[in-house]
Formats: sequence, structure tokens, C-alpha cells
Amino acid sequence: MQNCPHCGKENPETDAYCYACGHILPSALPVALRSTTKLEEVYESLEPRRRWGTAYFDQRTKLRLTFRDTNETLLIDVPHQIVLGRRGEDPTPNAADVDLTPYRALETGVSRRHLEIIREHDTVTVIDLNSANGTFLNGQKLMANEPRILRDNDELRLGRLVIRVSFS
Ligand SMILES: [Zn+2]
Repeated sequence: MQNCPHCGKENPETDAYCYACGHILPSALPVALRSTTKLEEVYESLEPRRRWGTAYFDQRTKLRLTFRDTNETLLIDVPHQIVLGRRGEDPTPNAADVDLTPYRALETGVSRRHLEIIREHDTVTVIDLNSANGTFLNGQKLMANEPRILRDNDELRLGRLVIRVSFS
């Protein structure tokens, strides 16, 4: 195992990027740099796209959601944090920011406040908000309220609503 230099979580020895925060892991550095005592400076010197790999997402990046069953797409900004879900007829003050109702959210079991997306450190993380039917990232069920890094070309499933995510 190796520890992520950014968030400290344990990752498998062979992985290149942290599963939790997206930061590059020691094993992905060139061998010559791995042994240096100034690893912190090495990380700082990496350009963001290298440091975060396919998780790199800056303030100019938009999130493109493609709904598998209808092939419709939705382009959204992630200013800091947004909530995906269903707003319904009479939205409450803490209703979802992005309403998925037009994309068959009710029929596919999406909760009113289903998934939170947070952008920080040039990455985005997704957090299942204890939804009734759960969230799956690339087929793996997310634990409620536990942030996971989102990467370009990941597949999200909210209840039975399957969404292909791309960064553009
Ligand atoms: Zn990490």
C-alpha cells in the first residue's frame, strides 16, 4: 500500500492516482524523483494536468452529462458545490440545484437531493446524499456521505438513471 501525499488515504501499490482525492501517487512519479527527500516540491512543480491526471477539473471546465437511455446531454457549471436531484412542482429552499426531472429522474428512482458535486483543488468529488436508491460510480456503490473523486469519462448511476460524465 502507499499513502496519498495529498489526503493521506491508503491506495494499492500499483495505482497512479488516489481513489479519494485524485492526486498523483508516489508510484506514478519517475523513479529518479521518488527517492528525493523534497517530494513536496516535486508535487508542487507538476503541472495541474499531470498532478491530477484525468481528474483535473479547473474553474473553466464544464461537466457534460449524457443520459444513456435517451442520449440527451446536459452541460453544467460547478462553481463550488451543486446538488443533483428532482426539484418537483413546488421547490423548497434547499431543493436540488440541477433538476433531473426532464431526464426521467422520477421513473428511475432519483431522490430529491441525490448527489452533491464539489469542486476544489482543481478536482471534483461526488457525494451520495443518503439517497433512497443509491449512487454507483463505474458500477461501484458509493457509501452515503463519503466523497469520491470524479474523472473524465466516468459512469454515474443515480438509482437506475445511467449518466456518462465527461469534462469539457
Ligand atoms: Zn488522496
